[in-house]
Order: sequence, then C-alpha cells, then structure tokens
Amino acid sequence: MKPLLAMTLEELTETLAAWGLPAFRARQVFQWVWGGRRTDPATMTNLPAALRAKLAACLPPLTGRIVRRTDAADGVVKLLLAWPDDQTTETVLIPTRPGEARRPRRTACVSTQVGCPIGCTFCASGLGGVRRNLQAAEIVEQVIQWDALPPAGPGDPDAAARVTHVVLMGTGEPLANYDAVVEACRILVDPDRGGLSGRHLTLSTVGYPDRIRRLAGEGIPLTLAISLHAPTDALRRRLIPAAAASTIQELVAAGKDYFERTGREVTLEYVLLADVNDSGRCADELAAIARQLRCNVNLIRYNEVAELPCRRPSDGAVRRFRDRLSEAGVNVQIRASRGADADAACGQLRRRAGTS
Ligand code: SF4
Repeated sequence: MKPLLAMTLEELTETLAAWGLPAFRARQVFQWVWGGRRTDPATMTNLPAALRAKLAACLPPLTGRIVRRTDAADGVVKLLLAWPDDQTTETVLIPTRPGEARRPRRTACVSTQVGCPIGCTFCASGLGGVRRNLQAAEIVEQVIQWDALPPAGPGDPDAAARVTHVVLMGTGEPLANYDAVVEACRILVDPDRGGLSGRHLTLSTVGYPDRIRRLAGEGIPLTLAISLHAPTDALRRRLIPAAAASTIQELVAAGKDYFERTGREVTLEYVLLADVNDSGRCADELAAIARQLRCNVNLIRYNEVAELPCRRPSDGAVRRFRDRLSEAGVNVQIRASRGADADAACGQLRRRAGTS
C-alpha cells in the first residue's frame, strides 16, 4: 500500500473505501495530517476508535522513529530517523535567530538517499556509499516530523510555526533518485498538502545536465543549486569523483537552459576548503564561470569532519575570496555556518550513531 504521506485525497478515499469507510473519513484524516500536522492517529479525536487503531497499525502518517536528536546552542537541531528497515536518515532544522530576519524562517534540510553515491572527498556522507533511495513519503516526512515536534530548541524564535523553507541538501544526490524526489517536491508544493511556496524549495545537485533539463520541464518552481566546489574540471574530478561524467561547461549550459525555461536564477554552491580551492586564482576562475549565466554564488565555510583531512579556511580567507568575486561583478554571499555543535556537517550524525 502507498504510504499515507504520498497519497492524494482521492487515493486515501479509495483506500478507506476498501476498508468500508465513507469518503468523509478520508477528508477528516487528510485534514488532521495536512491541515493540522497531527500525525498520531490516537489524537485524531473525531475518528472512530477502530479507524484510529487501523491507521496506526496499517497506515501510520509517520514511519520514521527518532533515534537521536542533537541541539546546537544556536538553535539548529538535527534528527536521526530510523525507517522500518533500520536504515537511517538525517534531517536538520535551521531556524532564524531572534532579530536575524524580518520574517522568521524555519528551514528543513532533508536527505534524499540513505548514504550517498557521489563520494565527495570532503564529505562524511560519501564515506559509506549509498544504501538505498528514499521514497517520496520518506523525503516529505523529514519536513512533517519538524512540524509535528514540540519546540525545536532554545534559539527557535517561533517554535509553533511550521517549516517555511525546504532545501534538498542533506545526504544523497537528489537527481540520482529523480522520480521520488520530483514526487516529493510536488507533494511539498501542493496547496492541499505541503502548502510550501515553490520559491522556498531548493534542490541541490552535483549536476546531471540531462536531468537538470528534465527538471526544468516538470513545472515545479523550485530553485536549482549546482554544487560546483571547483573552478576547473581537473580539481572538480578530484573533489567530486562521481561528477567526472560531466564537465563544468556542460553544467553551465544546463544551468542556462534551466534559467531560460523557468525564469529562476541558478545558485552555484562552492564549499571553501583551505589550500585546496580558496586561492585568488580559483576565485578568478569561478568568477569567469559565474559570469556566463544568471546566477548567485553561495560560498560555504567547510564544516570539518574528524575522519577527513580537509580543513576550514580562516574567516579572512573566506572574506577575501568573496570580495574578489564581488569585485568581478558576481552576486556572491557567504552562507551562514550554523549548528557546528549539532554534528551539522552532512553525514556526521549517522556516522557518530554508528549507522552508516
Ligand atoms: S557533499 Fe553531497 S553529493 Fe557530496 S558526498 Fe556529501 S551528500 Fe553526497
């Protein structure tokens, strides 16, 4: 049976009809889950006890069990979810800090695979390879888990609010799990289900030019972020071995197509690694790439991982890199680095819990 979070109202109605129940029961369940973010059937008070019990046994809204939670001092929270097959997934909530933004944001960073096939040499998630793809409902659940939780932590300024932004930037390569990821995105932006603005949904990929073009035709107004991380193909192949299948120029061409077909500017993600890709020459080469398409460049300060040799550049080096891009006319920003004491680098919580 399809998981409840992946069902449309029509599909839920059919399922409950097969259980001998009228259509209004499906609407009630739908309303609890999507309208109220109520995920424990026992609390769906207008349902008959027998239906509550059957939902809990056969069609629970949530299937992941929280096996670990870490709270950083700055309000970032990380959950480790265990699925029924005991595979685990990390999801992170990044709330804005008090006074940081006019409108408080709650950003959920979700994973799309168990482990990752890409094997970036600076990332903990790639160390164990990929175990399996996540289903669409498991991707969506990583968002709904936050809405169903009590206050996220001491820094959460608006704990009662829902997730406002979703970034598919956790463990896994979204475009390597294309169908499930697109289905999850459709559920998240469906006004009757996730209710998220497409403008608040970002998909981050190391880049498959053909799938970027296919994504542009899906009609989902999401922001595409391309994880570049290197300004030359040679260095990129060293840092992202699985990205060797496409060149930077092929990605630039796909990014241009994406902008032309969707009107959405592309983001280039660039994680800064000390003495690897943070030189002035790298900045100049990156600027030359960025000027070829309508894009913003996001610089990410590396979060160090104990098992890996890469190091985080100094704040001064990061600022100098940013300024050089900026002087070259590139829209560039340094992404705030949050949650360092919550094992916030991708894949760290799974490894620390011994589940990768
Ligand atoms: S950085 Fe992203 S793509 Fe690279 S190994 Fe980690 S999770 Fe995979």
